[in-house]
Amino acid sequence: MPQLNATPNPADFAHVRDWVFDLDNTLYPHHVNLFSQIDRNMTDFVAELLQMERDEARALQKRYYHEHGTTLKGLMVHHGINPDAFLEKAHAIDYSALLPHPELGEAIRALPGRKFIFTNGTVSHAEAAARALGILDHFDDIFDIVAADYVPKPAGATYDKFASLNRVDTRHAAMFEDLPRNLEAPRALGMKTVLLVPRNLGDFVIERWEQASDEDPNVDYMTDDLTAFLHAVLAR
Ligand SMILES: [Mg+2]
Repeated sequence: MPQLNATPNPADFAHVRDWVFDLDNTLYPHHVNLFSQIDRNMTDFVAELLQMERDEARALQKRYYHEHGTTLKGLMVHHGINPDAFLEKAHAIDYSALLPHPELGEAIRALPGRKFIFTNGTVSHAEAAARALGILDHFDDIFDIVAADYVPKPAGATYDKFASLNRVDTRHAAMFEDLPRNLEAPRALGMKTVLLVPRNLGDFVIERWEQASDEDPNVDYMTDDLTAFLHAVLAR
């Protein structure tokens, strides 16, 4: 069971040639909370599409999320919507809360091998966020929900598609994620797994995250500071 902010053993990552990062709440911290804007936009989309009150639309949005993995998938299955229109509306957000993070950029740049963003969002959302952080140029490619044929993580088929498209040997790769369930498939594929947890949310919340991952054999490391973690990995 990993301890929060245990210093990684650089030897654990010496074989890694491909570095795979989730975007939201991983490359920027949880407290920035861009998702609340996306969440609101999705509610608006459902309300407008189905001519519902916002409360009703929100309940349906959450039901589709739980039943289909994403709200989008539920809307596609039950209402045959155009996914591009939905994704564009959902990600029409203000990125000004994201500030340039040169130390993070330097750490990502210094990692030996290729770097990927692997997101259930879109390429344009990932580009906008990574550009705001000043780290976009350090990535080789972005694999998004469109490339995944709208089948989100944690579906195993989506990781297989990512790996085969990019010729990633998963036994020589590492995955960084804020959702424990999204680390199950990578771990089964032989990837090193790192769970990002929220910072400064109080002992109770951290305890809950620790408990969640204590039960979770899919997490090799757990950290609330991606930059510090990568610097420790690089000290080899
Ligand atoms: Mg995430």
